[in-house]
Amino acid sequence: MENLGRIIKVSGPLVVAENMTGSKMYDVVFVSENMLMGEIIEISHDRASIQVYEETGGVGVGEPVYRTDMPLTAELGPGLIQSIYDGIQRPLDIIYSRAGDFITRGIMVPALSREKKWVFNSLVKVNEHVEYGDFLGYVDETTLIKHYIMVPEGVSGEIIEIYQGEFTVEETIAKIKTSSNIIDIKMLQKWPVRKHRPYFKKINSDIPLLTGYRVIDTFFPIAKGGTACIPGPFGSGKTVLQQQFARWIDANVIVYIGCGERGNEMTDVLMEFPELKDPKSGEPLMKRTVLIANTSNMPVAAREASVYTGITIAEYFRDMGYSVALMADSTSRWAEAMREISGRLEEMPGDEGYPAYLGARLASFYERAGIVKCLSKKQDITGALTIIGAVSPPGGDLSDPVVQATLRVAKVFWSLEANLAYSRHFPAISWLNSYSLYNDAVKEYFDKNIHEDFFSQKSEAMTLLEREAELEEIVRLVGIESLSGAERIILLAARMIREDFLQQNAYHEFDKYTIIEKQYIMLKIIIHFYKQAIEYLNIGVDINKIEKMQIKEAIARMKNMDDKNMDKIKSINDKIDIEFEELRTKEEI
Ligand code: ADP
Repeated sequence: MENLGRIIKVSGPLVVAENMTGSKMYDVVFVSENMLMGEIIEISHDRASIQVYEETGGVGVGEPVYRTDMPLTAELGPGLIQSIYDGIQRPLDIIYSRAGDFITRGIMVPALSREKKWVFNSLVKVNEHVEYGDFLGYVDETTLIKHYIMVPEGVSGEIIEIYQGEFTVEETIAKIKTSSNIIDIKMLQKWPVRKHRPYFKKINSDIPLLTGYRVIDTFFPIAKGGTACIPGPFGSGKTVLQQQFARWIDANVIVYIGCGERGNEMTDVLMEFPELKDPKSGEPLMKRTVLIANTSNMPVAAREASVYTGITIAEYFRDMGYSVALMADSTSRWAEAMREISGRLEEMPGDEGYPAYLGARLASFYERAGIVKCLSKKQDITGALTIIGAVSPPGGDLSDPVVQATLRVAKVFWSLEANLAYSRHFPAISWLNSYSLYNDAVKEYFDKNIHEDFFSQKSEAMTLLEREAELEEIVRLVGIESLSGAERIILLAARMIREDFLQQNAYHEFDKYTIIEKQYIMLKIIIHFYKQAIEYLNIGVDINKIEKMQIKEAIARMKNMDDKNMDKIKSINDKIDIEFEELRTKEEI
């Protein structure tokens, strides 16, 4: 066979082949008689270096390399939702049932079932003109997701036939007459994963993506279509946080990419995710989720494929007008795979051995987030893709190159810290080290929809927390006696903010999710307490009595109150005034 490459070197997941003239970067090839899938990542003369996504044990020099002359593509169409895929989009359940626990190499299973029939409902009529991105119809993929079938790239023309009824993804659901020929449209479409899916235009994201977590929504909000980074030292509550996000975040579709290092990390996700319930519908969360998991018996290189496959699937649902949240855990493992391959390619290493293109690669991944006006001119569709990437720096060291490169592109940093988790402060997100660069963008939304003093109130709260950190330092050095009454009130109020506002119990019926209106009221009450305390201190009320006020208990209980009882929560404000007045009268001031 003329077109066969021949292996001349095997180095772990990297295979070098000759007789590869004419092949292109990122073409998919199949290595050896085992048909192991790989991607070309370097070409020089007639030699190609191939990153192989399956174990290369037993592969030897002289064996063939089969070309496809096609890039790595994702299969897109009904059947994606509820799927659990490996890095190269093979459905794990089918692979397991065929090959047992150990994934047999070279096994080929299509990502979308070719047998399953879906009820296609058309949305267009014969003679209608359609273009790339227009909706032709939909399939009720699950009870939670309507899956729109869009006109594929490069096609525009008149509908000459449109069908209705049950079809497999490979059957024709419409025929479109273009300027040159007639094209059969199927529900199955393919997309090269390294190329971002086009949209009409990106729009500024100025709507917060609410999570129900008070520390996030109030202090470090993420915008819809935004990007965030979370480091997750072991035991810091990362898993709980991610599951909470998946459940509660204001998104229609969740894509979760797991690049675990140890096999059991992934097993946890695979076991636990399908058990989660969607709080809004009471249905399994999987009915709006796609999981991609790098199993432990796949080589590290497959992590790269999983990241691109995941983001392509996420973009595809964005193009249907959905708000999609993609969670990648952890991008550090992906970066480690890049480092390993780069080392084997003998490229010039950058920081800590990571390749010089690490930053650019991460940036081009995060840049696929955003709110977009979709391509269709027929329907006015806006979709959002939000990316939350977890990083796992060795030893929790934030100066790590992967963390630093991520922070240059991700606009929110939720600093999950192990010491907070040890002291049972959950979610263990540091209020001093986290930040959000979306604060300015989402301000107008909060001003309009919640209250115009939302921002001034939260900056007052943040000032109190910062002052607390300074004062604690003084207390450590010279003791609490050195503080003035006003300073002790700062400590009192800051403690309230930490314990009664920032701490949130993921397992409490009412505390696990706080609507933004309640977040606002809760913080308002604490700030009101602080202001009253200062005022009454200034007219002579004893600081020791203020520190022991009854109302503190009511403030501490706010978070566990049903948000349907908003009036009851609001009434705490008046009770604060009453108790301060009582103190004043008792002290005869
Ligand atoms: P990690 O994945 O970072 O190792 P986990 O997410 O498994 O850590 O969290 C460890 C433990 O911390 C959980 O089992 C739970 O008891 C506690 N925890 C974490 N987050 C919360 C939270 N928001 N509310 C209450 N408990 C929490």
